[in-house]
Amino acid sequence: MYVKSNKIKPFSKKIYLASPTMHGEELKYMSSAYQTNWMSTVGENINEVEKISAKKSGMKYAVALCNCTSALHLCVKLAGEKLYGRPKVYKGALSGKRVFCSDMTFAATLNPVVYEGGIPVFIETDEKTWNMDPKALEKAFKIYPDVKLVVLAELYGFPGRTDEIKKICAKHNALLIEDSAEALGATIDNKECGSFGDYSAISFNGNKIITGSSGGCLLTNDIADADKARKWSTQSRENAPWDQHEEIGYNDRMSNVIAGVVRGQYPHLKEHIKQKKAIYERYKKGLKDLPVKMNPITDGTNPNYWLSALIIDKKAMCKQVRDNLKASYVSEKGKSCPTEILDAIFSLNAEGRPIWKPMHMQPTYKSHDCIGVKGSIRVSGAKDVGADIFERGLCLPSDNKMTSAEQEKIIEVIKRCFD
Ligand SMILES: *Cc1c(COP(=O)(O)O)cnc(C)c1O
Repeated sequence: MYVKSNKIKPFSKKIYLASPTMHGEELKYMSSAYQTNWMSTVGENINEVEKISAKKSGMKYAVALCNCTSALHLCVKLAGEKLYGRPKVYKGALSGKRVFCSDMTFAATLNPVVYEGGIPVFIETDEKTWNMDPKALEKAFKIYPDVKLVVLAELYGFPGRTDEIKKICAKHNALLIEDSAEALGATIDNKECGSFGDYSAISFNGNKIITGSSGGCLLTNDIADADKARKWSTQSRENAPWDQHEEIGYNDRMSNVIAGVVRGQYPHLKEHIKQKKAIYERYKKGLKDLPVKMNPITDGTNPNYWLSALIIDKKAMCKQVRDNLKASYVSEKGKSCPTEILDAIFSLNAEGRPIWKPMHMQPTYKSHDCIGVKGSIRVSGAKDVGADIFERGLCLPSDNKMTSAEQEKIIEVIKRCFD
């Protein structure tokens, strides 16, 4: 039961983790879809979103889809068919093949591997970057030399060295899928996230840095692959007088109305990043005397600062117990834990969130291997980095409409957790 800071008056209007921020242009483009009657999955807004997304990422082609999960699915399918050919009786493009995947991420990064019959093998998180550990990936290629595909996510808009991961993939003749759902606008050595993968995906989900309410894009430099993805996303119709199907199809295309929202949001991406950066820096300054650290910024990268997060020093952790569905803790003087801080934030009518629970800890994936620097983490007895960050870390309210006065109150309530 949360007790430490009950005295602060809650916000009358809820402060979200990250919510949509509209500017007006979105409505103009949505209306133009309505007025011209392109209320469909065809139209000018879609064409523009593809053009802008390709240009922004520095990839040659973008395919606008109904969400990023679908984009990742089609990335996986393209990679699978490129690597292993198309099965005669379709059981998925990765039927029975292992794929190396980020471990500490949202499940949508790698669920599509399973949609295509593949078997995720998780790669441990690097303590210093909170992203996929390149050394663990090298180790994984030693243990599973046949693997030809890697799926990597850039966590919370704070990328690690995706370029280094790409080099390791190249050395082992493996393809890279880059899940930049959270990292649109972030860069590594001034090169855009979304441009490192053989196939990449970005998201316009309602809580991302810009949004269409939903939506996503697949990015690639190969026009044949872009055309294939576009065809698959519109039920795989052949150029024939009737519905002729040589391939399995999907209904994954972006709506022209939604594309209008995305089109109106893109000009505000920079401004959103600036606001998110200010939020991160205010937390960093406000929490500097507490036994906590903010989520790391990797050398050479510019994050988009989508979600601010913190991690509590080990010695300042109170007792916290989590089973599969519930959390509890024992409040202690001078110490705290993510569950207590999340409760404190909630008591203010604001919203935080635990760190993504690592995939190797999820019941769905509990029998899948997870490789750390020393080998399989289940048998090596080495420290489990993902479990540790999950245990001690949390995401802070990062809404770009939050005022600095509101944020100061959130900082105050976090401070009181350590009283
Ligand atoms: C949001 C998110 C997705 C899924 O995006 P949708 O557009 O909601 O399908 C995939 N991967 C990561 C890392 C995400 O954060």
